[in-house]
Amino acid sequence: MKKKSKLYLSLVLLVGVVVNAAGALTRVLAQTETDATTGASEAMYDYTDPASLETSYDVIVIGAGGGGMAAAISAKEAGANVVIFEKMPIAGGNTMKSSAGMNASGTKFQEAEGIEDSNDLFFEETLAGGKETNDQELLRFFVDHSAPAIDWLDSMGISLSNLTTTGGMSVERTHRPADGSAVGQYLVDGLLKNVFDHEIPLFVNANVLEILQTEGAASGVSIEINGETVEVQAKAVIVATGGFGANFDMVVEYNPDLEGFVTTNHDGATGSGIAMAQLLGAAVVDMKEIQIHPTVEQETSYLITEAVRGEGGILVNQSGERFFNELDTRDNVSAAIIALPEQYAYVVVDEALKERVKALNQYESMGLVVKGETIEELAELTGMPADALQATLSQWNESVTNQSDEAFGRTTGMAIGLEQAPFYAIKIAPGVHHTMGGLKINTNAEILNEAGEVIPGLYASGEATGGLHGKNRIGGNAVADIIIFGRQAGQMAAEFVQE
Ligand SMILES: Cc1cc2nc3c(=O)[nH]c(=O)nc-3n(C[C@H](O)[C@H](O)[C@H](O)COP(=O)(O)OP(=O)(O)OC[C@H]3O[C@@H](n4cnc5c(N)ncnc54)[C@H](O)[C@@H]3O)c2cc1C
Repeated sequence: MKKKSKLYLSLVLLVGVVVNAAGALTRVLAQTETDATTGASEAMYDYTDPASLETSYDVIVIGAGGGGMAAAISAKEAGANVVIFEKMPIAGGNTMKSSAGMNASGTKFQEAEGIEDSNDLFFEETLAGGKETNDQELLRFFVDHSAPAIDWLDSMGISLSNLTTTGGMSVERTHRPADGSAVGQYLVDGLLKNVFDHEIPLFVNANVLEILQTEGAASGVSIEINGETVEVQAKAVIVATGGFGANFDMVVEYNPDLEGFVTTNHDGATGSGIAMAQLLGAAVVDMKEIQIHPTVEQETSYLITEAVRGEGGILVNQSGERFFNELDTRDNVSAAIIALPEQYAYVVVDEALKERVKALNQYESMGLVVKGETIEELAELTGMPADALQATLSQWNESVTNQSDEAFGRTTGMAIGLEQAPFYAIKIAPGVHHTMGGLKINTNAEILNEAGEVIPGLYASGEATGGLHGKNRIGGNAVADIIIFGRQAGQMAAEFVQE
């Protein structure tokens, strides 16, 4: 889990183009580091020419991740003249890197699979995962708008029809692309296409330095673009700048225990939007709640998606034994790994699971996967005792057959055992992954000050905000958050400017 001396390895893209079942263009990317994914969007789209920058818009969106693009599309649909400023050379942010999927309850895709779910169950399980500390008004809005968010994406050609589970849920609620590939690249490609179809200007290399304020209301931004600093006016500003998981000064300020951890985040996750809004009096919540993800490959800081465990993967220690319920919440699984003497573990899967989770091919092409033609060979290559690993897999397969994990009480991700050779292992340990704290908002996505009052014209969505997830975010809820509250921020901002 310790940070490498230099996180920013060179960009290596191995781009395979796949047309998924929905017919949308999806890339399967192999990447070595946080910023690798974004090169694809650079290749595919012409971002807006800086020369066409205007002096004023109705709504300014800061950040072109999922939360920002959803907000912009929604604002445009509601009739606003909207612009997006992105500080990196390409759009996508952490959204591009998201892997497992997007949670939603009572969707048409669940119904088609015969999965019984409800907004109340989603609410209860998210609240339990968050140790009952979630902002319950935000959470209620979130679950109630989750299925409409899936429909909204679907109406734009972004179809998340394939279901799986992540930790902390009792039913298949995590929606991903039809072919089971990672959600992020597909989602960003789809949102970008809609941004351009809606003729929304998207400026990259456009670093917002300050949010302007006039008579207590947000009134524009100051940006650095094309080597110049300019002011752009607006009647509303949406902060969609993401979290601060790549800003270790900030991470360690709020949680000193995380000194030296690796991060799964892209370079732009610096928390700048939070800091800018604070200068306008914005309140923040839950800032010390920083999620570490249990399964991060440490040489590359690359996340091994929770879908691997959701589809039936297990965790074993260096002694070849399981040691915890792999699909417990992330904080608990991470703590269990850190409590091992070796402070790392292996994700173990078989050939059949590899075929169900496409990301595993990507991990293999990156050299992260150890392959054994037999269990014995896998044990030898990873230095585990072969008899122990053999016994662990036999016992696990028996648990799957009986649908009862007496050892650790796991109840999900148990549909199919691990029986088909070859077998694979990936060595992992926890890494900084998601910042659950951020700007305090209400269900209109309006940013609040310390007194709980709305700061006029100032909205936020996505990982820049706090409160929804409480002390622990459930995997798949962040992508749902950015679409649900991005949509809401865009619509509310558009209504505000038309008042
Ligand atoms: C490896 C990985 C896998 C994940 N997998 C999942 C998953 O499967 N499911 C799930 O629910 N969640 C997942 N998450 C979490 C989820 O992806 C993020 O929480 C979410 O995408 C954040 O979206 P966002 O739009 O708020 O921020 P981002 O997507 O990070 O976008 C914010 C954008 O704002 C830009 N920006 C920042 N400051 C400025 C500024 N001053 N001026 C201009 N632009 C600025 C940034 O460069 C960035 O492009 C994952 C995260 C990671 C890192």
